[in-house]
Parts: sequence; C-alpha cells; structure tokens
Amino acid sequence: MLDLRASVIAVSYIVASVLFIFGLKELSSPATARSGNRLAAIGMALALAATLIDRQIISFWTIAIGTLIGAAMGIYFGRTVQMTAMPQMVALFNGMGGATAALVSVAEYLRLSGHGEAIGIGEATSIVLGTAIGAISFTGSIIAFGKLQEILPGKPLQFPLQRLVNAIVLLAVVALGAMVVMHAPTSTMWLLFAAALLLGAMFVLPIGGGDMPVVISILNSLTGLAAALTGFVLHNQMLVVAGVLVGASGTLLTLLMSTAMNRSVANVLFGAFGAGGSASSAQAAAVARSVRQTTPEDTAIALAYARNVVVVPGYGLAVAEAQHTVRELATDLEKRGVNVKYAIHPVAGRMPGHMNVLLAEANVPYDQLLEMEQVNGQFPQTDVVLVVGANDVVNPAARDDPSSPIYGMPILDVDRAQNIIVLKRSMGHGFAGIDNALFYHEKTRMLFGDARKSLTEIEQALKTA
Ligand code: NAP
Repeated sequence: MLDLRASVIAVSYIVASVLFIFGLKELSSPATARSGNRLAAIGMALALAATLIDRQIISFWTIAIGTLIGAAMGIYFGRTVQMTAMPQMVALFNGMGGATAALVSVAEYLRLSGHGEAIGIGEATSIVLGTAIGAISFTGSIIAFGKLQEILPGKPLQFPLQRLVNAIVLLAVVALGAMVVMHAPTSTMWLLFAAALLLGAMFVLPIGGGDMPVVISILNSLTGLAAALTGFVLHNQMLVVAGVLVGASGTLLTLLMSTAMNRSVANVLFGAFGAGGSASSAQAAAVARSVRQTTPEDTAIALAYARNVVVVPGYGLAVAEAQHTVRELATDLEKRGVNVKYAIHPVAGRMPGHMNVLLAEANVPYDQLLEMEQVNGQFPQTDVVLVVGANDVVNPAARDDPSSPIYGMPILDVDRAQNIIVLKRSMGHGFAGIDNALFYHEKTRMLFGDARKSLTEIEQALKTA
C-alpha cells in the first residue's frame, strides 16, 4: 500500500514537472500563452494533490483553512487589480513565495534539531541557503512593492557609507550561516533569519522605482532558488524542479530586460539610476527649440488618408488605460482600408511584456503586433506613426547621441517614418528623465492631452473625415 502510494506520488510529480516545462514553453508566445498557463495550472493542481496524499501531511484542517484564505485573496486580487498595478502584485506574491521557502527551511531546522538529530553538512547548507535567500527575497519584494505602490519614495534611497553597511550585513549573513552549518545553538538560526531580512530591505532601498521590474525579476529567481533548496531539505523532487524552473526563467528575464535597456544587471542593482537629473548635451540644446502641435481633427485626416499606420504604445497608454480606445480607432481605420500594425518595444511600459498584455486584453490580433527587429525596417514605408504615451523607447538620442544616458539602448526608429504624431499630456520626461529630440523633429506633431481622451477625440473626428 505504502509502495503504491509512493509510486503514485512519484509519477504525479514527474507528470506535473513535464506540464510545467511545456506550460513555460507555451508562455513564450502570446498566441499560446493562455493554454500554457492552463497546462501549468493543471500541473500545479496535480502536484498539490500528490503532496496532500503524502503520509507526512498531518492536519488537513490547517491546510484547508490556509487554502481557503489564500484562494480567496488570490481571486480577489486577480479580479480587482488594475493592469498598471500588476508589477506590485507580482512583487507581493513573489515575497510570499520567498517567505514560505524561508519559513519551511527554519521549521525543518527546528524539527530536526528538536529531535536531537545531527544535521548533515549538505542538509544544513540547504537549510541555511533556503532561509537566507527566501528571507532576502521576502523583504526585498516588500520594499519593491512599497516603491511601486508609492507607499515608499520611488527615488533611490541613499545614505553615507551605504555600500559598506550593506557589505557588513552581507558578511554577517554569511558568518551566521556558516555557524549554523557548524552546529551553533538554535538562536543563531534566528539571528541569521533576522540579518537576511535586513539585507533584503537594504539591497532594494537604493534602487530607483523605475528599475523595480528588473529587481522583481531578480527576486523572483531568488525565490525559485530558495524553493529549490527547500525541495532538497524536504527531499521533495517536485519542489526542486519547480524552483529551478522559476529560478532559471527569472534569471533569463532579468538578462533580457537589462539587454533591452542596454544596462548591465550590476548597473541596475548598484547604479542608482534616476537618483539625480542627468542632462545630456542634446537635452540642453532641445530647451531652446519649439514643437509643432496638432489637433484631433488634423490627426484623423492624416490617419484616414494613410496607407500604412504604425501605433507605438508606451507606458502612458497603460496609465491612460487607452488600450481599448486605440483598438477601436485601429478597427475604424482598417474599415477604411488602412493597414494598421503595432510596434512593440521589449521594455515599453514598466514591466516585461506590459504592452503585449494590455493589447491582448483589448483583443488586438497577435499578427498585428510587430517586434522591434521586425518593424524597424518598415518605418520608411510607414505614412503615419502614432506614438501613444511612449517616450524613451522612441528617443533617437539612444542611437545618435553618445552623451545620452540611454545611448546604446535599442529603439524603435520612428523618426524614419513619413509623419509622426505623438500623444502625451505635456513635454514631461519618461522613465529615463531626459528630453526627447523626436518631439522637435520637423516631421513630428504633438497632440497634448490624456491619451484616452485624445484617441476618443480622433475617433470622433474620423467619422467626419
Ligand atoms: P516612458 O519613457 O516612461 O514615457 C512614458 C510617457 O507617457 C511619459 O513621457 C508621459 O509624458 C506619458 N504619459 C503618462 N501618462 C500619460 C497619459 N495619461 N496620457 C498620455 N501620455 C501619458 O515610457 P516608454 O517609452 O514606454 O519607456 C519605458 C521606460 O521604462 C524605458 O526607459 C524602460 O527602460 C523603462 N523600464 C521598462 C521596464 C519594462 O520591463 N518594460 C522595466 C524597467 C524600466 P507626459 O507626462 O507628458 O504625459
């Protein structure tokens, strides 16, 4: 009977792991993402069911109560959270994962040492790493959540000798961890836990709010690593596989985002980007220049008589929640025979895939979404580019001005199109805090106002154009 149960659990774990891997694979394309999510969810249900029939589960009541509370919170947040608040929700949930991994490691340590069992070096190392990494991920994620939710100031929080203090806390974590492995009293474990919690907060505080999505991605990979280590401690292969998958995908995402911003991971973590106003020579020169404004009516005419239109969505589209309006406008234009595409920059917005998610929510067909490499060659044949709340990702300084802080970041070459119309509220800066020469270009017209309002007005005007 015991053997049968062990076999069922082992097979379920293998099937769940395979479902996770295929689920992740499908998540890499918007067209298959939904079914990928479903596959991974089925894998998770199977893994949970297998874990629940494990003989080590003692109180089903405690589990049922925890599940109910967790599920109720999950459903509530899933239904109510705004698209713009998604990064902070991910931060919060990631923090919970880190806390869980740390608490399970501590509990296992207390259980083993309470039984007076000698903990082997390998197991003790897994426990220490699971505790430390999980705790760092927990407080780091909570600080990231606070910055994104604007409970804490978004600017990098810096103080004198910060790096030295952080290095001392890091050393304390390492030393306490080594002491726990070498059978120090139980109180050392609690000190390690506290020091790791402090380190997580100290590590994220000096990083600017705008870099939080990259930080969350790093913390996500740490949570995965902590979960995998907990899997070793509990001798649970499923947890090891799931943790490794989370850790690896988080690491890859971090690298992809840093590359798309042309910044190293070290620069994101230690560069305090956004701490001070950096003025490039182009920025200083731009102040003296003037911009050309346009109206919704003129924009409607330009769009109605174009053959090829490319919409460039940016962070402002998310703020204005204009995804449905832009889709409606595109449909109206298509009815008039205009060919409409969307140009998606990998770091447009504030979180990975931000624009894809928003446009998918508004049912924009996937084949209309073009990635940067695909679309850049098409701009010279584009009659009108409609830039909706995007700024840094269309800033030609990234390509042309070596003194610009974003020099080298790959951009959408919208300045090579025939006409450019930019929808934003003011001459305000984007995330990088710098001026944009595109706005002063002779081919560019600015339509000031909230993106959704402007798009609605263009749509109205189009009816009579
Ligand atoms: P951006 O450069 O931050 O510019 C967004 C623009 O939207 C602003 O200039 C703002 O101008 C405008 N805006 C704000 N609210 C608006 C509204 N209601 N209606 C119309 N316009 C509005 O955005 P982006 O071009 O998408 O670039 C993303 C930036 O974030 C990049 O620098 C990227 O490196 C960074 N980043 C992205 C990620 C990621 O994973 N995607 C992660 C970290 C950092 P006004 O105030 O004048 O309206």
